Amino acid sequence: MPPRVDPLDRRVVLAHLPTPLEPMRRLAAHLDMDEDALWVKRDDATGLAGGGNKARKLEYLCEDATVHGCDTLVTGGGPQSNHVRMTAAAANKLGLHCTIVLSSDPPSTPSGNVVLDELLAPEIVWVGRLDYYAVESAIDHTARRLIDEGRRPYAMPIGGASVTGAMGYVRGAQEIVRQQPDVDLVVTADGSGGTHAGLAAGLGSHDRVLGVDVGARPDLDTYVPEKATETARLAGLPEPTGDVRVDHEHFGKGYGAPTDAGREALDLAARLEGLILDPVYTGKAMAGLIAARRDGRIERDTKVVFLHTGGMPALFASAYAEWVKTTPPSSS
Ligand SMILES: *Cc1c(COP(=O)(O)O)cnc(C)c1O
Repeated sequence: MPPRVDPLDRRVVLAHLPTPLEPMRRLAAHLDMDEDALWVKRDDATGLAGGGNKARKLEYLCEDATVHGCDTLVTGGGPQSNHVRMTAAAANKLGLHCTIVLSSDPPSTPSGNVVLDELLAPEIVWVGRLDYYAVESAIDHTARRLIDEGRRPYAMPIGGASVTGAMGYVRGAQEIVRQQPDVDLVVTADGSGGTHAGLAAGLGSHDRVLGVDVGARPDLDTYVPEKATETARLAGLPEPTGDVRVDHEHFGKGYGAPTDAGREALDLAARLEGLILDPVYTGKAMAGLIAARRDGRIERDTKVVFLHTGGMPALFASAYAEWVKTTPPSSS
């Protein structure tokens, strides 16, 4: 019998791992927390054309694509999708073709992630503004077109949100526990929910993960526990215990729409820690963390790890330039 391969080892190496875990002492003091209670896991520093959480998922997704003999990575998302940008980078590094579906009309001047997409040069299909599920259909439709053209596409859902992709955060959770064995709570942005599912599977507990809904999909409360269970099974781990925790109070007017609480979070992180957050994901996640501290869900001595999932290129998108410039600095 061939030796059994640990499912967590079925990956290609794309990310700079382990990423650092750094204390945020000044932000902790500002939030009236113990000085060793608040940490940031620097998954914005995973490398791969600017970094972010998708690098960990892509290690497993690209391995799966290769094992299945695929020659083209296909995925999609909003025009400022970080997953799309990093998928194009992974394809180039591995010598695969790449087709991406962007739910926008082509911009007259590229900005933010689109600048990087243009440089990485995948085939880009601009489909106009579509909702989450219509983008998923457009990805499938594009994969079928590629088959007709004689390609062997590997289609990934928005955000790489499959059980295979979530394996990246089982590994990520294990990395966090190795660096901070006392961690009580990991706070993350929830876009597609795949990162949250992987973390819960890796920690073996829903109670130890707080996801902050950024308004990308409406079904996180059912999606996350379902995928966490499936991911744990694939990783050979027990099903996570406890109740899933998703904060739906911080997405404001919806996905990509900046909020005042998010702006306060960006300002605090930048001014107290020299840490740059983004308006779409990490700013809203940090706003959720701050609110949980202020209303007592996070206590003074709760050991909290904020997962920095990346996203900085979106700050350079023209859509946010005016917001960064004109929103008055928060008073706190
Ligand atoms: C995709 C993304 C997320 C959300 O991750 P999901 O696994 O889709 O929930 C969070 N932050 C950034 C910067 C992202 O690009």
